[in-house]
Amino acid sequence: MDQDSAGRREKLLRMQAQARARTGALDDELHALFEASRSSNADDEHDPEGPTIAFERAQLTAVLAAARRHSADVDAALRRLDLGMYGVCEGCSLPIPAARLAARPTATTCIGCASRR
Ligand SMILES: [Zn+2]
Repeated sequence: MDQDSAGRREKLLRMQAQARARTGALDDELHALFEASRSSNADDEHDPEGPTIAFERAQLTAVLAAARRHSADVDAALRRLDLGMYGVCEGCSLPIPAARLAARPTATTCIGCASRR
């Protein structure tokens, strides 16, 4: 393996660990929120916090979904690296410019193909 892809793998593995920690933490937070809303409903049906918790839950669910997608993107990038397909545009099969990969290591297309989608 050349120096470049070793560095890339290291970066992606770091991103993967971060992404997993983040989804795990968000998952815990969401569970805690569900627990909190359940117990507060049991205590008081007219809990003034009710709508706030529902809103928080909806927001957290969206954030968690985005975190899961990001995590899946990082996993996919590592798979492409294993297959030797990393950094190759899925649209036009040309190499994705290094600057784009540096800014967005999980990119699967060059900017041209991304904007044509
Ligand atoms: Zn392309």
